[in-house]
Amino acid sequence: MSIPKEPVCKICRRERQKLFLKGQRCFTDKCSFERKPYLPGQRPKTRLIETEFYAQLREKQKAKRYYGVLERQFRNYYKKAVRRRGITGEILLQLLETRLDNVVYLMGFAMSRAQAKQLISHGHIMVDGEKVDIPSYQVKEGQEISVAPKSREILPVLEAKESGGSLTPPAWLEVNLEELKGKVLRLPTREEIKAPVDERMIVELYSK
Ligand code: SF4
Repeated sequence: MSIPKEPVCKICRRERQKLFLKGQRCFTDKCSFERKPYLPGQRPKTRLIETEFYAQLREKQKAKRYYGVLERQFRNYYKKAVRRRGITGEILLQLLETRLDNVVYLMGFAMSRAQAKQLISHGHIMVDGEKVDIPSYQVKEGQEISVAPKSREILPVLEAKESGGSLTPPAWLEVNLEELKGKVLRLPTREEIKAPVDERMIVELYSK
């Protein structure tokens, strides 16, 4: 499981964008990005030399951190996207968006993607009635995702359920939060993927 090596709020500040990595806290005035809207370091940095390469690199880093994947995994997603027919950048985002951990988060069964990863790794999530403990598992159209019956009363699930999920689920997912289950109606379109990244810059970076 990929765990960021630095405090997650620093990641948002470095990327100069809210990436919503800390569940409910991200929606409160405790959000570090709101309180310290400058790059992490000892003092606010106001000047930064931006090159095209730097901007492309930042987009890639942002996408990796948003979805919580490591460099090698991310590059493999890119290679997979290149092999598929269609617009590479959009396929790349679609592959990331349909990871099981992301879907569990979007369905509101966890307060953050990191928590969703943990729930899956610990065997609390089922796909079509079978336990799946691989956070990177790629969900497919028509599959049913649910919290395992024995796990419905555990604290992280109860908290997520009580808060009504962190987000409004997108239209490509059908969710029954009360019963802690949902269905993948279809694959997401680019417009439905809320990741704050410019995927074209990532493709440009890897195409060099
Ligand atoms: Fe980012 Fe959330 Fe931390 Fe704000 S609270 S800086 S959105 S992780």
